Amino acid sequence: MASIFSQIVDGEIPARVVYEDETTMAFLDANPLAPGHTLVIPKAEHERLNDLPDDLASDLYDTLHRLIPVIEGAVDAPASNVAFNNGEAAGQEVPHVHGHIIPRFEDDGGNP
Ligand code: 5GP
Repeated sequence: MASIFSQIVDGEIPARVVYEDETTMAFLDANPLAPGHTLVIPKAEHERLNDLPDDLASDLYDTLHRLIPVIEGAVDAPASNVAFNNGEAAGQEVPHVHGHIIPRFEDDGGNP
């Protein structure tokens, strides 16, 4: 069974896609912790960061790096939390690598 994120990549489940290239994709989180909460994924299904081949890890980092200021700018956020839950015991619910970009605002109530 393909992961829910692979189903998004394949267009089988709708998502609000904010970026896509040959190997990576980004879309808005369905249950956002803040306005603009975005998930950045490799299109290929790998469970953990260290499962990624080097070239794909590099592509994922490049997309994340490029999108952080774009997402912050889109919601006028001065900062963001950027995080990977890497493994079930660390809170990873979807077994398909994904980075969170969570915009943060002055006095927004503390870290997630
Ligand atoms: P994790 O806890 O695995 O790091 O985060 C998984 C994230 O995926 C959660 O923030 C959750 O809201 C989001 N999510 C789960 N299912 C879907 C979905 O079908 N569509 C979208 N856009 N986000 C999802």
